Amino acid sequence: MNYRSANEYYHSLFGDKVYRIALDAGCTCPNRDGTVGTGGCIFCSGMGSGEFAANRNLPISEQLREAKTRVSDKCTSRKYIAYFQNFSNTYGDEKVLSAKYDEALSDDEVVGISIATRPDVISERMYDILADLAKRTHVWIELGLQSIHESTAQWMRRGYPLSVFEKTVRRLNEISGLDIIVHIILDMPCETKSQMMETVDYCAHLPIHGLKIANLNVLRGTDLGEQYLREPFPLMELDEYIDFLGKVISRLPKDLVIYRMTGDGAKRDLIAPMWVANKRQTRNRIDAYLKEKQIVQGSDSTEYPS
Ligand code: SF4
Repeated sequence: MNYRSANEYYHSLFGDKVYRIALDAGCTCPNRDGTVGTGGCIFCSGMGSGEFAANRNLPISEQLREAKTRVSDKCTSRKYIAYFQNFSNTYGDEKVLSAKYDEALSDDEVVGISIATRPDVISERMYDILADLAKRTHVWIELGLQSIHESTAQWMRRGYPLSVFEKTVRRLNEISGLDIIVHIILDMPCETKSQMMETVDYCAHLPIHGLKIANLNVLRGTDLGEQYLREPFPLMELDEYIDFLGKVISRLPKDLVIYRMTGDGAKRDLIAPMWVANKRQTRNRIDAYLKEKQIVQGSDSTEYPS
């Protein structure tokens, strides 16, 4: 393999294929409830970037049971990661959230827990809860950064500065047994490729375990979608994206796990770029390109041209 994939990593950890089950803890987001903002990030749908999560009205154990039934054909190992995916899953009553994490972990087939959140909504009490969880199971915390550039943060209405992200990464990194995964987005219309690569290089030097790389997905029902339909802006075609992604991968440290390489927006809502909709073909094209060009993760430490 030319890069360290999640599957390869899970195999090394659990000796088998592991399936991530998206759960809904019933959280909201400070960027939607008025604490930080009301409109959310410009590309975020009303689902809080969790289009594939379960029914939030069901108890966690029920969500898990339903999801396991759905994926039972694909997941023969019966090993699952409880993935609290949509909105900000450390934002809310800590006692209630802690009980939900525990409920997921009480399932014998759940081998770890992954919690997606924002870096500005982890309270002192929540750090303690995470530290306690990390003593009992594998814990991954996913932080949405998207870009290191302040102008981009303004454009996308992220609602926190880079300094908050850095402080949170430092704090989380002090928790033994907890792994940090960072989300970044490439191909935002306000950035050049050099700026995108600056974000990549920044992440390459963070004390993190994994990276989720997405290309910008323009979705129906988002402010970005409305803007795009009014005034379309150029997005990379698949060939151009793969070529750039190859450069990104070659600059990432060898041991960093690459969890995702493209956006993952719901097909029914996708406005652009349409090549994202064909996930299998896109993945095959990426793998074939990396192989053909002999691009290997961690092989390039040169300056990226500005
Ligand atoms: S932080 Fe996440 S859930 Fe909140 S508005 Fe942004 S993308 Fe949506």
